[in-house]
Amino acid sequence: MHTLILSSNEEDIKKAALIIKNGGIVAMPTETVYGLAADALNGDAVKKIFAAKGRPADNPLIVHISDISQIYPLVREFPKKAQLLAEKFWPGPLTVILPKSDIIPDEVSAGLDTVAIRFPSHKTAQKLISLSSPLAAPSANLSGSPSPTALRHVCDDMNGRIDAIIDGGDCDVGVESTVITLASDVPRLLRPGGVTAEQISGVIGKTEIDKAVTNPLADGERVSSPGMKYKHYSPKAEVILLDGTDKDFYEFVNRPTDRNIVVLCYEEDKEKIILPCISIGKKHDYGEQAHKLFSALRKADENGFSVVYARCPEKTGVGLAVYNRMIRAAGFNIISLGSVNQQ
Ligand code: AMP
Ligand code: MG
Repeated sequence: MHTLILSSNEEDIKKAALIIKNGGIVAMPTETVYGLAADALNGDAVKKIFAAKGRPADNPLIVHISDISQIYPLVREFPKKAQLLAEKFWPGPLTVILPKSDIIPDEVSAGLDTVAIRFPSHKTAQKLISLSSPLAAPSANLSGSPSPTALRHVCDDMNGRIDAIIDGGDCDVGVESTVITLASDVPRLLRPGGVTAEQISGVIGKTEIDKAVTNPLADGERVSSPGMKYKHYSPKAEVILLDGTDKDFYEFVNRPTDRNIVVLCYEEDKEKIILPCISIGKKHDYGEQAHKLFSALRKADENGFSVVYARCPEKTGVGLAVYNRMIRAAGFNIISLGSVNQQ
């Protein structure tokens, strides 16, 4: 299949909208990561997303809207807490899960009786939705690999597999949206993102954080969000998270080695590390780390490294989203440095 590269001007967005209306699939920029979009109400078009990504059919998709009023036909209820979150954080990087209406195809919800909805703030995404339909759109990467935050990442994974890609430059936030379910008794954060847990509980009060955000699933454990089952966001290189103080970290990564290692570190660490480094930003700038993380993981592969040593991020604010992605990229392979360095 030939993949058309489009720009973000009105004429090209109209071309993309036509492709979508005809049942095709188009990668679009959003403020979080690039999404791979199809008409959310066309089950056959949505199937093409799963095929292009190699995504397991039991992992549901987020439906993107361009106006709050578009939510009403998609859900059975729009409860007060969801309305409050929508007023405060939409358009923006927050996805809410609600009981789905009958017009949502099973392909989108993967057979669940709920649907995930988001109103992105990116102008190109908004325009494309308003010219076509609510769009089902997961991240525009091959399933399991780091999400795309730049046009070239999408091209690397999707060229020849999809109808078109709209170039929107680099994505601002850099990690996928925060996902919260309001289909349970107490609201529960299923995936951390650009809108933080602290911001959400500031608006709707008590909010749980699902155990799977920071922990691996036990064998056979039931999962609230199917996406949490899978190893995710991983480059080809093996990723190992290193948890410890600055001193422990420098001591560990500066040990002699004959492996082909790159270190994902903070800006402040660079001059203290002998191995090649890729900075993901300043130590306490979690927004910058989120913005750079996926691109840094892809860079490790582009430069042919076989192992990535990554500093374990802090878990507050947007840092929790960085931690959640990194620990999955590492397949929960984490070394506690305090004890190791004494060996
Ligand atoms: P992606 O679009 O690839 O960034 O992934 C969307 C995330 O939202 C995945 O982790 C899905 O499993 C999750 N998700 C989407 N719809 C639902 C739903 N109805 N219930 C629970 N999780 C969902
Ligand atoms: Mg994804």
